[in-house]
Amino acid sequence: MKLYNTQSQSLQEFEPQAHTVKLYVCGITPYDTTHLGHAATYCAFDVLVRYLEYRGATVDYCENVTDIDDDTIREAPKRGTNWRELGNTWTAHFIRDMIALNVRPPDHYPRATDVIPEIIEFDKKLIEKGFAYESGGSVYFHVSAYDKFGQLSHIPKSEMLAIANERGNFPDDPKKRDPLDFVLWQAQAPGEPAWDSPWGPGRPGWHIECSAMNYKTFGPTIDIHGGGADLVFPHHECEIAQTVNFTGENYFARLWMHTAMVGYDGEKMSKSLGNLVMVSDLLKQHTPDSLRLYLAKHHYRKPWEFTSADLDTSLSECTQLTQAVQTSSGDRHAMDFEYARAAFERTLDDDLNSPAAANVLCELSNAILEHADVGRDVREAQTWLRRAASIFGLRLDAYGPEARVRFGWEQHINRFPG
Ligand SMILES: [Zn+2]
Repeated sequence: MKLYNTQSQSLQEFEPQAHTVKLYVCGITPYDTTHLGHAATYCAFDVLVRYLEYRGATVDYCENVTDIDDDTIREAPKRGTNWRELGNTWTAHFIRDMIALNVRPPDHYPRATDVIPEIIEFDKKLIEKGFAYESGGSVYFHVSAYDKFGQLSHIPKSEMLAIANERGNFPDDPKKRDPLDFVLWQAQAPGEPAWDSPWGPGRPGWHIECSAMNYKTFGPTIDIHGGGADLVFPHHECEIAQTVNFTGENYFARLWMHTAMVGYDGEKMSKSLGNLVMVSDLLKQHTPDSLRLYLAKHHYRKPWEFTSADLDTSLSECTQLTQAVQTSSGDRHAMDFEYARAAFERTLDDDLNSPAAANVLCELSNAILEHADVGRDVREAQTWLRRAASIFGLRLDAYGPEARVRFGWEQHINRFPG
């Protein structure tokens, strides 16, 4: 199987069968509703997980919740609540959307606030090793102490600061030695939540949270690290810098996978532009299957735009897929569908080309209906079609999400009372 690695900027052979695949995907910062861009990311990784399982791998999947962050602290008072309640509420909403979309739950679902001791250990060791420094009760990673910074994003040093500033960096923080240095621990500001640390009360920086949750869950290295393309820089670049300098390993993730941004009306779908398409709104008018098939029909790595007309097409395709698995079979010589199985696997082996694989299934559903019409035995083809459709999370004629989806997420949701 070949997957595109952001770090090497090339397709890379990925052999899933050999062992348990350790997969970490950056989760939400819970302060608002799940939009279509979130759904596209988590459904793409769901297809990856389900296809790796289909190919015989065991996947150990960790997704996190960034429950303490500038966004949750800033938004909570505006909504008359505190960061913890706000986080619990929106995490529970997100989980309900994931259940509705039949997204396989992660095996591990840590919150940033679960790993405060690990974060402090990271910071201490990075200071000891000369990669970080304390200043005024805060701790910063000193970017110029690490000459491989930029290895993931391939952004020239001269352009890094402008991009970092758009994505949460504070260049004018007087406690920093260099404007590009990023915060590992920030001293408590008035009214902000805080934990004790060797540098006084404070809270973790955003990037170190994912390094610590990753390390606590999986140890020093993982197989695949994923997230939205807007996380490549600075978030994932900083994660590598923190983790490899903490562990001493020469790599962190074997492969970095990033999902493209989703647009609407010619612009990036974003909260600041106010053009978000919410998953819960879409699910009021469309079936979960049609939404899942619609998402599968966009390649995870190519930016695309939302149009509701395409959702209607997906609904009629789902109807035909369902008819194909339900139609009564004849008993004359069995229909050959090996060509479809081979094409399906070949396309998904090619950097998870789900649009091409979805077409294979739609064509197969047509062929099944034609063969059944003339009395051919289509039962094996139907069984395989069900199995293959489940890789896109489709339920066809089954009722509601899979039991493992519902029960798995419900175990996580219990930790977010809200
Ligand atoms: Zn992250």
